[in-house]
Amino acid sequence: MLKNNDSIIFDLIQKEENRQETEIELIASENYASLDILEAAWSILSNKYSEWYPGKRYYAGQENIDKIEQIAINRAKEIFWAEYVNVQPLSWSPANLAVYLAFLKPWDKVLGLSLDQGWHLSHGHPLNFSWLLYEIIPYTLDSKTHLINMDEVDRLASENKPKMIIAGFSAYSRDLDWKRFREIADNVWAILMADISHIAGLIAGWVLENPIPYCDVVTTTTHKTLRWPRWAIIMSKWIYEKEIARAVFPWVQWGPHENLIAAKAVAFAEALKPEFKVYARQVIDNARVLASELQNHGFKIISGGTDNHLILVDVFGSFGVTWKEAELALEKVGLSANKNMIPYDTRKALDPSGIRIGTPAATTRGMKETEMKVIAKIFTEAIKNKDNETKLSSLKQEVLEMCGRFPIYK
Ligand SMILES: *Cc1c(COP(=O)(O)O)cnc(C)c1O
Repeated sequence: MLKNNDSIIFDLIQKEENRQETEIELIASENYASLDILEAAWSILSNKYSEWYPGKRYYAGQENIDKIEQIAINRAKEIFWAEYVNVQPLSWSPANLAVYLAFLKPWDKVLGLSLDQGWHLSHGHPLNFSWLLYEIIPYTLDSKTHLINMDEVDRLASENKPKMIIAGFSAYSRDLDWKRFREIADNVWAILMADISHIAGLIAGWVLENPIPYCDVVTTTTHKTLRWPRWAIIMSKWIYEKEIARAVFPWVQWGPHENLIAAKAVAFAEALKPEFKVYARQVIDNARVLASELQNHGFKIISGGTDNHLILVDVFGSFGVTWKEAELALEKVGLSANKNMIPYDTRKALDPSGIRIGTPAATTRGMKETEMKVIAKIFTEAIKNKDNETKLSSLKQEVLEMCGRFPIYK
């Protein structure tokens, strides 16, 4: 119908579909939701206002909506072994705002990973509300190993007595020591919050340790390794239910998007299937092969490898190629990746030394170790031949051929 009624938008959606089908997505925070999820997401549930929570809504007519939201909550609890789950946050950033408001007062201290070393802007940065309202104390990575320096976390916690400690990242490729984080938080009576946005799918698939038993509160996006609709959830110990529920509604937001909550319920069911565990395992296996192949081709990988789905590559330090030059070359061959600062980067945030890549999307297409080796080769040749248009267009043909063998939706 859209085709006839609004061909401009219809055409652009078609073009975007074509772009997704014909490029290999290496952006670590992207993935492909299933057609079932997309169908639920665009359903007529979008028409309904359902402020507040199941069983105590403000408007009438909630008999179906209440069931859907409760099913989403129950399935999420089953996946993550969480005591309390709130499925209403519209995306991660409002979820974070709700958690901060639930647990902190203005000017309280928050301890979190330093921004230039792998955490997310919204944890505490001048560009985000978190910086205006709270005192952010950064902990850092060891300058040699590029691993989180847990002794420093311990020392900073004892010295500053933060109200909350955040363990979470958007560009760190190693496992976190959840137990040690818990001990440090206990020593200073701090709330321990984990932001598992990047690794939630790997936790749901049982290939990374589940931090929920160690944490007071855990937030996650649902569209990254989880392969779900664009959304977020908050999980916590049951004792915090009242504070979190109130912070989400009515403090931060009103009408929840029940169409997306339904899509999330569908997605939770997908994650409970045995196939999802196979997928999660493959995401990590693929990342390990991709990282070691890139090393063989001469790239410096931050921390020397990966324990999860993401790889931080020091392109400038490896070949003296800047991010912008690398991005252009990769775009020309149909590989999609994003710039990222590396720990102790000597270049600026908008023109950093690193590229962050990840395997969740390519793995969803069905790509395995063999394809990772080819991707590593194409990635390397594109960057080394960034000024050779003939070479770049023959690499583009290789990417097109591979994408044709691994369709996303067709
Ligand atoms: C992606 C990401 C976010 C932001 O999520 P949005 O849903 O886009 O607001 C927050 N935290 C981490 C660690 C992330 O990786």
